[in-house]
Amino acid sequence: MINLRSKREIALLKEAGHIVFLTHKYLQPHIKAGIKTIELEHLAENFIRSHNATPSFKGYEGFPYTLCISINEEVVHGFPSDRVLENGDIISIDIGACYKGYHGDSAWTYAVGDITDDKKYLLEHTEKALYEGIKAAKVGARIGDIGYAIEKYAKEHNLGVVKELVGHGVGTSVHEAPDVPNYGEKGKGPKIKDGMVIAIEPMLTLGSPDIYILDNDWTVVTEDSSCSAHYEHTIAITNDGIEILTGE
Ligand code: MG
Ligand code: MG
Repeated sequence: MINLRSKREIALLKEAGHIVFLTHKYLQPHIKAGIKTIELEHLAENFIRSHNATPSFKGYEGFPYTLCISINEEVVHGFPSDRVLENGDIISIDIGACYKGYHGDSAWTYAVGDITDDKKYLLEHTEKALYEGIKAAKVGARIGDIGYAIEKYAKEHNLGVVKELVGHGVGTSVHEAPDVPNYGEKGKGPKIKDGMVIAIEPMLTLGSPDIYILDNDWTVVTEDSSCSAHYEHTIAITNDGIEILTGE
């Protein structure tokens, strides 16, 4: 079942989304060579809890951390650890926060110091693919329109689309119906209705989009070790238009 959210609920989802946004902003100056990713984890968890919210991912289906931190060829669901960030890395940070029972979910990929032109290209166009998907979201359109827009943009820019992982509805659970794939056909999939709240989250690769999961049963990496980027916003779609709940 796809939940449709009232104005009151969307206001709460926006508060949760804002905490996620603020957490990203808070972490940014710390994302530099020499920091251990577990330090980012601790900063984020304390920050979220200091805003009377709880980390959405910690304990979710057994995921052990507040942040998903995925570096270079890691796509999503990486574990914070004693790994030290190095100049030239790209780091995807996925953050979820729950406030008064409602969730926000947003991921962003950051450059650590100076990165190669290839990596810059990947970041720039994965972020743009996210906004192509957001542009396709409107009342009366279909979920497939969103995936179509993302996939088309990715193909035009020679980037791989990871298909095993998808966006999703967001509400009183961090993952709800419907699935929001990053590929699809125009006019296919569930109809978008007033009050739908979804996370759109392209995961694009410089090489093959094929993936596998590491022995920790969580971390998703590209099969060919090519770099991957991940950009995600939670948005509300109403008759008034769309609102990015995890943005500025
Ligand atoms: Mg996320
Ligand atoms: Mg998500």
